[in-house]
Amino acid sequence: MKGAAVPDVAIIGAGVSGLTCGVLLAERGYGVTIFAEEIGERTTSAAAAAIWFPYDAEPADKIIPWSLVTYERLRLLAEQQNTGVNMIELRSLARRGEIPIPDWAKSLGAQFVVSPVTVGLSDREQKSASQPVFSSGFTMSVPLTDTTRYLDYLRDRFSNARGTIREGVRFERIGEVPRPFKAIVNCAGIGAGELVPDRELESHRGQVAIVSKLDLPWAVVCDDPPLMYAIPRTRDCVFGGTNSTSYNREPIRADTDRIVAECSRTLNIEPPPVIATRVGLRPFRKSGVRLELDKLSDGRPVVHNYGHGGCGFTVSWGCAEDVLKLLLFSPNPP
Ligand SMILES: Cc1cc2nc3c(=O)[nH]c(=O)nc-3n(C[C@H](O)[C@H](O)[C@H](O)COP(=O)(O)OP(=O)(O)OC[C@H]3O[C@@H](n4cnc5c(N)ncnc54)[C@H](O)[C@@H]3O)c2cc1C
Repeated sequence: MKGAAVPDVAIIGAGVSGLTCGVLLAERGYGVTIFAEEIGERTTSAAAAAIWFPYDAEPADKIIPWSLVTYERLRLLAEQQNTGVNMIELRSLARRGEIPIPDWAKSLGAQFVVSPVTVGLSDREQKSASQPVFSSGFTMSVPLTDTTRYLDYLRDRFSNARGTIREGVRFERIGEVPRPFKAIVNCAGIGAGELVPDRELESHRGQVAIVSKLDLPWAVVCDDPPLMYAIPRTRDCVFGGTNSTSYNREPIRADTDRIVAECSRTLNIEPPPVIATRVGLRPFRKSGVRLELDKLSDGRPVVHNYGHGGCGFTVSWGCAEDVLKLLLFSPNPP
């Protein structure tokens, strides 16, 4: 373990990627400072649903192993108090045809949902008995991170390990990170497009509606168009969603209306009141997540860790552990 307080590592970005790397490195004794233009609610991470589910990121042969590592780390956090993580039953459903169980889901005990495929709300909450909307599905237990609590939990854990966060700092180039820092970790999400720069990044805009708490016994996800999910949390429920190529970070009223209408239709309930809307830009990278060692012209090592698309929470710990390994084995370790 190293003696903390010296400025060893600068992390760019305070979303789930930057905070998770921050916790891992600071708890190993590195002196870590996170620099971020925006923190908290303004990040994409705060808009996420954020259930464990490999979705909208490449390549599968890396995403799945990172996801499985993260599953285990989050499962352990779910056993602790006040982390914002809990295990929940996830039902991945299809409106048409038979949905296969992916191999990664089989390894976690996924089972087919027995027909008729219903959403599980009580008769009292449903409008009336109706034909099931879904034709097939599979069910499994997965970690759910409540972003309203989990991001704070990561920040507190980082601070307790003597990590520092500097908010409101925007770098135009990675080389602007001040010289005392011996190594840099780039967790800039969609911001890496300009910062690196990297033309492979594509913004997959997502919008969700936070509605009042529903007595939904499991999370429902349906990938068939239109994308639909309902994720029950302790204090509310997240209705989704959208996925379009756009950089617009403002909520669109028509999207909210469509999301609430589709979720209410499939759950067969009266539309619940909308408490808030959230928008985030999923950092999708066409050639796949960039997690690799690079070098600045002044010789300092940079580990890039961005492009996690629609599953940044799902891969967060697996990626952070690989970041640590790359730093340790770089020619100039911090
Ligand atoms: C609607 C929606 C639902 C989602 N649902 C899920 C889900 O259920 N499960 C799941 O795993 N994932 C989900 N995701 C995806 C997930 O949210 C992202 O993959 C993840 O948040 C990316 O995290 P990040 O830390 O890499 O980036 P971000 O959260 O975007 O953070 C980037 C950070 O970098 C900073 N930054 C950027 N550029 C600069 C710069 N030049 N200088 C300084 N700082 C800079 C930003 O200010 C910010 O602090 C969802 C996303 C959306 C939008």
